[in-house]
Amino acid sequence: MQARMTIEDIDKEFFFHPFTHVREHERVGPLTIVEGHGSTLTDTRGRAYLDAMAGLWCVNIGYGNAEMAETLRDQTERLAYYHTFASMGNEPVARLAQRLIAMAPGSMSKVFFGNSGSDANDTQVKLVWYYNNVLGRPEKKKIISRDRGYHGVTVMSGSLCGLPNMHAGFDLPLPMVHFVRAPHRLWEAEPGQSEEEFVQGLADELERLILAEGPDTVAAFIAEPVQAAGGVIVPPKSYFPAIQEVLRKYDVLLIADEVVCGFGRLGQNFGSEVFGMTPDLITVAKGITSAYIPLSACLVSESVWDVIASGSDKYGVFSHGYTYSAHPLAAAAAMTNLDIIERDGLIPQAKARGERLAERLRAEFGDHPLVGEVRGDGLLGAVEFVRSTDPLTAFDPALKVAPAVVRRSRELGVISRALPAADTIAFSPPFVVTEAEIDEMAAVARRALDDVAAELRLLP
Ligand code: PMP
Repeated sequence: MQARMTIEDIDKEFFFHPFTHVREHERVGPLTIVEGHGSTLTDTRGRAYLDAMAGLWCVNIGYGNAEMAETLRDQTERLAYYHTFASMGNEPVARLAQRLIAMAPGSMSKVFFGNSGSDANDTQVKLVWYYNNVLGRPEKKKIISRDRGYHGVTVMSGSLCGLPNMHAGFDLPLPMVHFVRAPHRLWEAEPGQSEEEFVQGLADELERLILAEGPDTVAAFIAEPVQAAGGVIVPPKSYFPAIQEVLRKYDVLLIADEVVCGFGRLGQNFGSEVFGMTPDLITVAKGITSAYIPLSACLVSESVWDVIASGSDKYGVFSHGYTYSAHPLAAAAAMTNLDIIERDGLIPQAKARGERLAERLRAEFGDHPLVGEVRGDGLLGAVEFVRSTDPLTAFDPALKVAPAVVRRSRELGVISRALPAADTIAFSPPFVVTEAEIDEMAAVARRALDDVAAELRLLP
C-alpha cells in the first residue's frame, strides 16, 4: 500500500507545512516542486512556472547555479562542519565576516552568524539587552516595531511582527514590544497631507510613544528599509532621517532588518543606503546565500561592539550561539554567491529589471478600477487591490481578492505572492530574470485579476 502512495499522498500524510492552512492542505494537497533553473520551477507533472518571488524573496542569483553546487561540494569534501564556540574558527567564515564588514554601511565592526532571519532578529534583541545590562541600564529593554513589519517567527521575532496573524493563537506579542504605524501613505496619510506632514506625524507618534513609555525603558527600534511581507511598503525618502532624529534624542538603537533588502534587491548592497539609515545593528539572511543553504548574520556597529566586548568583565563567556553558527558550508556558499553577484553585475541588473517591472506593472494596473496602488523599489513590486479608488475603500478581507489573483496566476504559470495584510500581490523575482519573463509576470497577473474580477463579480 505504502509503495503506491504518490509524493503528494506522502506529503499530506506526514509533512507539517509551515504557514499553511491545515484543513485546506488536507483537501487540495501540495504543489511539489522538483527542479529549478534560472527563474523557472518545474513540478512533479513536468509543468513549468515562472517564479516571480524568488522563492520567499531569496533566490537572488536564480535556481540551479553550477558554481554554487561546486562550492558546496568542494567545501563538503574539505570541511563540512566544525563549530565556532570557544574561539574555534574556520576560514570561509572569517573571510565572509571581513567581506560583510567591508560592504556594510556605517561603521560596522563584527559579525555574529545564525541560520535564519528569525534567529538573527532574536539575537539582535539579546545583543541590545546585553548592551544595556553592561551599561548598567537594566530598565532600558523595550523594543519598538511597526505595524505591518515582518521579522520572523521565534517567540521574540514573532513578537516584533506587526501582523495580527503572526500573534493569534501563540500568546504573542511579548509585553516589552510596542508598535507605531507603518509609513503606508495610501491608508495612513490624512487627505491632502503633504509627504513632509505625513513623515512628521509618524516621527511625532514615535516620540510620543517613547515619552509615554519612558525613554529610560526604550532600548531599540527595528525596521525593514522596505516592509516586504507586510505589503511592500516603501517609505518616503525623508522617513528614516526623521525617525532617526527621534531615536538619537532618546538614545534608542536602530536595528535595520535587511533580510529581504540586503545584497542588492533595492539596487544597492543594503536598503539602509537607499533610505538614509545609519543602523547600530543590521540583520541579514536570505540573499546572503541566495538561499542555497541557510545562513543569517547580525552586523554589530563599533559603538555597540565596544560595550558588548567589555561585557566579558561582568559576565565572562558570551553565552549565546548555535551549533550551526558560522557554518563553513554556508559561509563558503555566501562567498561564492557574493562573487557571482559582483562579477556578473547582478545589482545594477536588478535595478534595471526593477525599472522594467515597475513600468510593466504600471502599464497593466495603473488605471485599473480595482487597483489602489502600484508600488515598489528596486526589484520589488506590488499591486494593492481595492473595492473602489474613489473614495478609497478596501475589499472585505473575507473575499480574499489577492489570494484569488495569486491562485489564478499560478494556474496561468506564474507564481506571485499574496500579502493579505494589504490585499496586495508581490513580485520579487531572481536578479537573473529576463525582460521577457518580467513582461510575462505582469501580463499574467493582469489576466488573473481580470478573471477573478469576472468570477467574483468585483466590477459594477
Ligand atoms: N525579516 C524579514 C524582513 C523577513 O522578510 C523574514 C522572512 N520572510 C525574516 C526576517 C525571517 O527570516 P526567516 O524566515 O529566515 O526566519
